[in-house]
Amino acid sequence: MIAAEQPSAKEGWTNVIFSNLSLPTDGDFSIETALKNKEGSVVVSGTSHLTIASNASVPRILFGDLHVHSDDTVGTESSIYNFSYGRDIAGLDVLGYTANDFQITRARWDATVELIQTLNEPGRFVIFPGTEWCGNSAAGGDHNVIFLADPTKYSPEFPFDRHGNVARSFEWSEDGPDDLVPGTWPLDEVYCTYAGEAESHLLIPHVGGRRCNLAWHHPQLERLVEIGSAWGQFEWLLRDAVRRGWKLGVSANSDEHRGRCGGGVPGTAVFGTRGGLTGILAPSLDRENVAAALRARRTFATTGQRLVGLVSTPDGQSFQGDEVELVNMVPFELDYHFLGEKGFSSIEAFDASGLIWRRNFWSEAQLPATILRVTWRSKTVRSLPGGVVEWYHHPVG
Ligand SMILES: [Zn+2]
Repeated sequence: MIAAEQPSAKEGWTNVIFSNLSLPTDGDFSIETALKNKEGSVVVSGTSHLTIASNASVPRILFGDLHVHSDDTVGTESSIYNFSYGRDIAGLDVLGYTANDFQITRARWDATVELIQTLNEPGRFVIFPGTEWCGNSAAGGDHNVIFLADPTKYSPEFPFDRHGNVARSFEWSEDGPDDLVPGTWPLDEVYCTYAGEAESHLLIPHVGGRRCNLAWHHPQLERLVEIGSAWGQFEWLLRDAVRRGWKLGVSANSDEHRGRCGGGVPGTAVFGTRGGLTGILAPSLDRENVAAALRARRTFATTGQRLVGLVSTPDGQSFQGDEVELVNMVPFELDYHFLGEKGFSSIEAFDASGLIWRRNFWSEAQLPATILRVTWRSKTVRSLPGGVVEWYHHPVG
């Protein structure tokens, strides 16, 4: 057992970093924490789990939130508040700032990109600038644009592209022009803007705001799809993508508007669920490697819990996100390694036809039925207006 104690900050947010602790062996460990008041009484306590496996094919699991709004646009807290909260309180490794593209002013955009540069710290915290392209669903729907390159080497092409063309959907704000003029619109125009440097960009279609329309797809730019956020859980969006044949990895983020990125708690009606997290399998915590892992779809998505899902071929050479070619249709085996705090009730696998495999741990355990489990979900309505939009989900604002 290792025991350590440290004083915390007296005012405002508080966090404590215990450095120089090392574990001597592989294995499963418990981390027990307690916050004491100055009289020494425990105010709050908690337990979490840590698995160390030196032979794991990935050195470390990174957690990111790639969808965060500050008061540059629709959020209620400043960018520095959001970034500090994400790094110090939520303990994120990776953060993606998303300015609503129609609303952000040039001055605020430039200032926040500069702030991001000062906070990006290889080995500790990777932060990407980005925008939310806010086209309505009939024009392609919301897509976040993450600028993956080092801004000092390749300046984000926003609010104008390198040719001087407008790179935002339209401009509308209290400081903006009197007339509403469509800019980069519809989604095809966004593809045209960034496809020439696809490796430096990542587009993430998502639900919430203006629901994305997966009738549009650009395989070089769109590598992940957001299937969970404070708006709700959208597994159906992934199934929609798979049915269409789109090869997309998964992402879940907060879409945080209130400064609590990295798994903010549910709040007002439209933000009724906890924000999600994107798990990232990158060899190291730096912009280049995280960007490559995101584009390689080496990710998993959680509902905000620090869960881990690893799927690989038995030889450990290929992971989720990779494409594997089957020779002569031999039986295909995959190893899976799921880690969590409380155990899993079931693990399921789907393909384009639906559920193809399931393990039900409740029935496998053959334990007496002493637990009543209550689950609920929001309403999903399928609609087919002209085959363009297949799904409608409540709540959507
Ligand atoms: Zn958003």
